[in-house]
Amino acid sequence: MRWLRIASITVTALSLAILAVGQAKPNVVLITIDTLRADYLGCYGNRRVETPNLDALAAAGTLFERAYCQAPMTPPSHAAILTGTYPSTNGVLDFTSNGLRPGFPTLASLLKKAGYQTAAFVSSYVLESGWGLDQGFDLYYDHFDLTSFQGVNPGSVQRKAGETIDLVVDWLGRQAQSPYFLWVHLYDPHHDYNPPEPFHSKYSSDLYGGEVAYTDHELGRFFGTLKRRGEYDSSLIVVVSDHGEALGEHSEYEHGFFLYQPTLKIPLIIKPPKTADVSLRRFKDNVASVDIAPTILQLAQVSGDRQIPMQGRGLLGPMLGRPGAAASMPYAETLYPRSTFGWSDLTAWVEGRFKYIEAPRPELYDLEADPQEKANLYDRQRALADGLRQKLGQFRQRITASTAAAPSGADPAKVEGLRALGYLAVAVEVKPGLGRTGLADPKDKVHLFNKVLLAMQASDAGAMAKSSALLEEVIREEPDLFIAHYSLGVNELKSGRYLKALQQFEKADSLKPSFELTEINRATALSRLGRVDEAVSVLRGLLKENPARLEPRRQLGLLYTWQGKYEQAVSIYKEILGERPADVLATKYLGIALVYAGRYEEGLAELHQALRLGVNDALTYNSLGKAQANLGKAQEAIASYRRALSIKEDYHQARLNLSFALLKVGQKVEARTEFDRLCRENAALCQQYRSYFLK
Ligand SMILES: [Zn+2]
Repeated sequence: MRWLRIASITVTALSLAILAVGQAKPNVVLITIDTLRADYLGCYGNRRVETPNLDALAAAGTLFERAYCQAPMTPPSHAAILTGTYPSTNGVLDFTSNGLRPGFPTLASLLKKAGYQTAAFVSSYVLESGWGLDQGFDLYYDHFDLTSFQGVNPGSVQRKAGETIDLVVDWLGRQAQSPYFLWVHLYDPHHDYNPPEPFHSKYSSDLYGGEVAYTDHELGRFFGTLKRRGEYDSSLIVVVSDHGEALGEHSEYEHGFFLYQPTLKIPLIIKPPKTADVSLRRFKDNVASVDIAPTILQLAQVSGDRQIPMQGRGLLGPMLGRPGAAASMPYAETLYPRSTFGWSDLTAWVEGRFKYIEAPRPELYDLEADPQEKANLYDRQRALADGLRQKLGQFRQRITASTAAAPSGADPAKVEGLRALGYLAVAVEVKPGLGRTGLADPKDKVHLFNKVLLAMQASDAGAMAKSSALLEEVIREEPDLFIAHYSLGVNELKSGRYLKALQQFEKADSLKPSFELTEINRATALSRLGRVDEAVSVLRGLLKENPARLEPRRQLGLLYTWQGKYEQAVSIYKEILGERPADVLATKYLGIALVYAGRYEEGLAELHQALRLGVNDALTYNSLGKAQANLGKAQEAIASYRRALSIKEDYHQARLNLSFALLKVGQKVEARTEFDRLCRENAALCQQYRSYFLK
């Protein structure tokens, strides 16, 4: 497999051209901007969106005009960027697949071995450490608050660029040691498009563009910090996106469903350290995400792993203008239409100006003559198409042969977090290209996909009736579409119609038995109907199949807490924390269960730990207040209750607690004011406790 070795051969030959022997290794900064289309950057020819900072970076480095991602989805694409290997090799294929297996060589682990300090700051839960992409990082900042299983607020599982850059700048301020490898992931261009002011007003007719401009602005702040530290010129800085974004092309919105240029083509800018004499400013040949890691290793003069070599090619030779390097032939795949909807997956092969897409109805495009991929040449240029298909097939065989087996068991909690971000992820494992016979072509199903997508967005925005109407339409056309029934159930659950929710989850269960999220939501519906014992037995049923399942255990602990079986809840959470000491939800729920059990000191400690891990919700602050009040820390309790109410204004229990806490410290007027407000909002609680507040 000669192609696997290209990177390691060129490293030694070319590295002498960049760094004199003994010269210090450069800092390496990798910036991945999620969902960024290449054609939205000024340096790629955009004239409407202002991106001066990325344009300046491109002017000081090499811009790759034809760069492709390996999969138009966040986890597999990032895995390819960070390992230099294809999805089938590293095992990160889809939302539903496993993470990178422990010990798989990554850019971070190789650089760390070579003496680099390593740190990563990710801006979305979609890249939480459960994917194994944290391997090799001394610091992997991925703290997000998934406070409740239902209706997770997407705002709590992503960070704006400004917030992430603050964290990065803060880290740099404490970073005296060089060299370092810093990976910064920014998420703003991802749907939904809602840039902060002044970008929102300025780009009101193109909010996606506004997100791009905002991201560039924040990068300017980051680059400014590097310049003040004297590290901008001397660092290797790479900017890339994990995939683009469809804005209606081929009827696609967002990304992941098709393999057309708007999502497959990505911006790639490599600014070498100033010691490297790279003269080529614009690179016109095809390159791919897997080429990035080998190129960084070349520029940092670090060798790759012998057992699992990177599969991309180092681009340093071409950057130095050296002829003779083999061309990249970008391969891409998406399993999403299949894993979540049951339709066919897609694979693509780009060679020179032509792109072949393997699908039930195959496609061939001439990207130079027809960059918008409007004319499918498959029937007219059959010989060419067949040739590319054959190469694609041979390539897949090679890749599969080098596949490193990954442990099984995708974490459904991870999948649910992704759903909170608007991904229609369902955990069904599939392999690309296997047994496609009889599966529908995604081209024929995109209208249904769009309806489900719109339904999800409506549901997130609280428009349940609209969302459910769309899902009913989908079900009329495709009655057995699991995801439609499941999503309808979630809508009913969020609307408080628990019996209807239960019916949908039962239907979903009949289409895809024992799917964990269905079962967990079924348990929630049951518990809301007061059928807590049945809910407990649904979760126990899941755990009987696989006792290690995380989310059913977390939920079972909650049910025990609400049932008053505090010690059982405590023991479940302690068990989880024994396995996953930094589990945010288990920490928080343990704290709450301990407070309910009257073990205030211990509860307080756990809740403080949960806050340190990034939890920031009303329930936690209310429980914290309760612990503090019972430990005689009245002022702290008052502050906690107020914090809970600032997060959730209509949190009646917290307002009642606040009223009592104020009464206790003698602030009678304030206590009465809070209690009066409670009376206006909740007659039952008012009636029950009013005697305490009557003078
Ligand atoms: Zn992404």
